[in-house]
Formats: sequence, structure tokens, C-alpha cells
Amino acid sequence: MRRLIDTHCHVYDEAFREDLPQVIDRAREAGIDRLLLPNINPGTMDDLIRVCDTWPDMCCPMIGLHPEDLAQDFITQLDGLKTILDEDRREGGGHRFIGIGETGLDLYWDKTRLDDQIESFRIQIEWSLMYDLPIVIHSRDSFIQLVGVLSDYRDRGLRGIFHCFSGSVEEAESLMGFDGFMFGIGGVLTFKKSSLKSVLPLIPIERVVLETDCPYLSPVPFRGKRNEPSYMVNTAESVAQAYGVSIDEVARITSDNACRLFRL
Ligand SMILES: [Zn+2]
Repeated sequence: MRRLIDTHCHVYDEAFREDLPQVIDRAREAGIDRLLLPNINPGTMDDLIRVCDTWPDMCCPMIGLHPEDLAQDFITQLDGLKTILDEDRREGGGHRFIGIGETGLDLYWDKTRLDDQIESFRIQIEWSLMYDLPIVIHSRDSFIQLVGVLSDYRDRGLRGIFHCFSGSVEEAESLMGFDGFMFGIGGVLTFKKSSLKSVLPLIPIERVVLETDCPYLSPVPFRGKRNEPSYMVNTAESVAQAYGVSIDEVARITSDNACRLFRL
């Protein structure tokens, strides 16, 4: 039976408050048997954990601070998250966090916080290394800065995902140089004018994982609507077309990739 893993979804978002059980059922029916949940900020942690406690066989928690959610006193935000993470990693600890994120850099709306974003990103990279957990990286309008930060950790065994990858050939080639990283491919691939269709085949499929980033970035034909994990089948079909393989092959390989990275 086909199984798929949504490596990046925010099903704890209030967009799902009314009908999350049905959303989860539809995901299962579509063959998606794991949902990996990156965190946004300290305020979303409780909702994220509640969802993971309700569907423990399916939903896996991550912990981190999104670059667009940095408060002025972001160090206090990070200290609070680190306390939760430390407790979790102790023997018998509670939540079983499988990754760090989402973190990274985002200069799309606000360029004035770059230094703070870099400091927050570096702190979370250190958590990833200290606890040997993969890191989920969000990067928008910040490619040069991203490579600059990551280059400092090249030989330290850092591993993770370039979430929502949609870059150029040159960007793909540069990021492929970071050995421990996978490319998270989402609904953008299905958009009619997406240049990712021609870039993707240059990336070995052994380095690709699937994601929705729901409730955002719905694939065609749901573009503009609330996204949900079951729609990831449409993205998987586009990935199959890009590589000229079957969707079952895409499901098997990308799920293996996610299991290997997150040690599921
Ligand atoms: Zn996200």
C-alpha cells in the first residue's frame, strides 16, 4: 500500500480548529500516515503538542522559532523553548521532539531584523547539533545570507531540510553541497508557471521529501484554498512527472528519505 509522509504541516493552526478530525481522516485515506509538525513560536507550542497527543501514531512534534515570529526579546522566547527541549531529551522525557524548526531567515517583509534572525538561527543550529536532531530551514529572499550562515557548520554533521525549496538551478547546486540536507518540495511545484519543474530533476530524488506547509500553499487544483495533508497527493503526482517515475515510486523513495532523516 502506498504511504506518504507530510514532512511539514501546521495542522495545529486555527484554520483547522473546526474540522481537524476530518482532515486527519482524509489524510489517512490518501495514504499519508505521518504528519511532521514544525513549530512557529512559543504561543503555538501547546496547540502543537495537543494535536500530537491526540494522534500519537501519526503526528510528530518539532520545536523552534520561525524567523518572522521573533519578538524584540527573542532570546527569552528561545530560552523558554530550550527549557522544554532539555526536559524532553532527558531520560523518560515527554514529547519526543523529532526535529528543530522551523527556523531560518526571511527578508521578504522586513529586512531590519536580519542580525536578530541570524542570531536566532545560529542558536537553533546549535540545538540541532547538540541533540543530533534534523533542522527545518525556512528561507525567503535570503539565499546569500543562508549560505553564509550554513557555511560555518559545513563539517559539523548538520542535517535537515531546505523547506519549500523553489530556487534556481544555481541555488539548487549550491545547496546540494550541504550533504546532510534534503529538499522539501510542496505545492509550488504544481503551479503552472513554476520553474521548479525544470530544476527539480537536477536534484537526486534520494534527497527529496514531500510537504504541504498547510494551511498555506495549496497545490493545483486547490490553489487559493486552505491546504491540507491529503492534497499532497497532487504534489506527489507532479514530482512523479518531473522524474519520469510512478507515484508509488515517489511515495516509497520520499518516505524512506524522511524516515532516514528523522529516524522514524
Ligand atoms: Zn511552515
